[in-house]
Amino acid sequence: MTAKKNLRLAVIGAGASGMMALIKLREAGFHDVTIYEKAETLGGTWRDNRYPGVTCDVPSHGYRYSFEPNPDWSRVCAPGSEILDYLKAVARKYDVERSIRFGEEVTRAIWQDGKWQVETTSGSQGAFDAVITAMGVLHHPVYPDIPGRESFEGEAFHTARWKDDLDLAGKRVGVIGTGSTATQITGALVPKVAHYSLFQRTAQWIAPLMQGPIPEEQKALFRARPELLESEYQRISDENNSKFAAAIVGANPRAYEKLVQVCRDYLETSVRNPELRAKLTPNYAVGCKRLILSENFYDAIQQPNAELVTDPIERIEARGIRTKDGRLHELDVIVFATGFDTHRLMRPMDVRGRGGRALEEAWAEGNQGYLAVTVPGFPNWFMIGGPNSPIGNFSWLLTAENQFGYALRLIERLARGNVSEIAPKREAAERFNADVRAALPGTVWATGCSSWYIDKHGNIASWPWTFERFEEEMSEPRWDDFEMA
Ligand code: NAP
Repeated sequence: MTAKKNLRLAVIGAGASGMMALIKLREAGFHDVTIYEKAETLGGTWRDNRYPGVTCDVPSHGYRYSFEPNPDWSRVCAPGSEILDYLKAVARKYDVERSIRFGEEVTRAIWQDGKWQVETTSGSQGAFDAVITAMGVLHHPVYPDIPGRESFEGEAFHTARWKDDLDLAGKRVGVIGTGSTATQITGALVPKVAHYSLFQRTAQWIAPLMQGPIPEEQKALFRARPELLESEYQRISDENNSKFAAAIVGANPRAYEKLVQVCRDYLETSVRNPELRAKLTPNYAVGCKRLILSENFYDAIQQPNAELVTDPIERIEARGIRTKDGRLHELDVIVFATGFDTHRLMRPMDVRGRGGRALEEAWAEGNQGYLAVTVPGFPNWFMIGGPNSPIGNFSWLLTAENQFGYALRLIERLARGNVSEIAPKREAAERFNADVRAALPGTVWATGCSSWYIDKHGNIASWPWTFERFEEEMSEPRWDDFEMA
């Protein structure tokens, strides 16, 4: 075996992806690795999202690291706190925390003399051979641009900044937004609060989620026979990554038709009042916005203490929310379930590649890379969740492992000795982005709705092909598409 160069590596972010990168780097023999994490604890999205009702909306046996199958998930779709506990347990097992610098946000990364000079909130960290970004996509909260937000006299906060010590029992709560987050909150809060108002700007398609506890005998069986756990994973993976994902990108019209029917039937059979049903019926294609899965939303919104408000919001006032029909909805608490700026990615970090070119400038017309992992002109810069990652299609942990597996091949090339810089060729990236643009119109995301997949330039940020194509692309870099020095 040839000797490996001892590379100094920085990982940005200690969420599920950053932890995985560290574990896999150590396994591959790289030990000089530091994770920079701006918060004080690990866990990323599962640390930040602690709102009532937060659960994974893919079955948990499909949401795990390949190297840490978990026979003990308590429910078909585990609560967020359990997923966070899982991540913490993995971190303990692999002694991840000794490599994390908590409370340090990376503010700058400058490519200079063949290395990345990295700066954090506590100053210069020196030179690194490569940087791996693992900062998540659903990370920067968006607050609605509604006049009067500051004038509200009660509590108001974003779902990703939940006030854990606030008791909502007996309160009048207003939630703005109807995405996956608001839908989960609705199911959990309606039974607890005095009055619940859900401010809907756009109706959402919802597919029924089969939820429930996993019996002890089942867990024992999974513990005793890992091959059964693996086949459960394969079954879920097939269902989600192959059938559902192929339907969304137009590669499986029969599966898509079935999905449409399931959503229509669910609405039809769950909501009795025709007026309410009409308000809850979207006017765009199933899957155009990210499909919501829920087991209790329709039931909750029909409870006597719940109200679906569809009159547009005029402004926020001291005592509540005023809608355009002139009505004041008096509230004690306002929750902004208004989502995330998924296109900010690594901003506001100042990243400068070859010749001092800012990533901000390279991405002025929209975020673009090569196969979502690398960017031309930015050598040794590897992204988990870069532009055109499959953010709307496959299980995130699976995506992250695939992308990092690809990045690792490039990092190993750097470690072999005769190459110290690796970046995609500009023409390879151009070809990839032209292919993306050609494929996107065939996907359901392009059928005419607004969603967090689409940026302000109209670019759709997701992966427009099947899971099988993604897996194949990630399995081995096309070396001719890279320039190395
Ligand atoms: P989202 O899907 O982006 O939904 C934001 C909601 O806020 C939309 O209903 C939007 O309405 C509304 N909104 C935004 N600005 C508004 C304004 N000024 N006035 C009125 N309404 C406004 O955000 P999210 O629900 O947080 O979900 C984001 C993603 O996180 C999901 O799609 C999913 O991928 C992920 N997630 C996953 C889970 C899970 O279980 N794994 C749970 C929660 C979230 P419009 O539709 O009209 O824009």
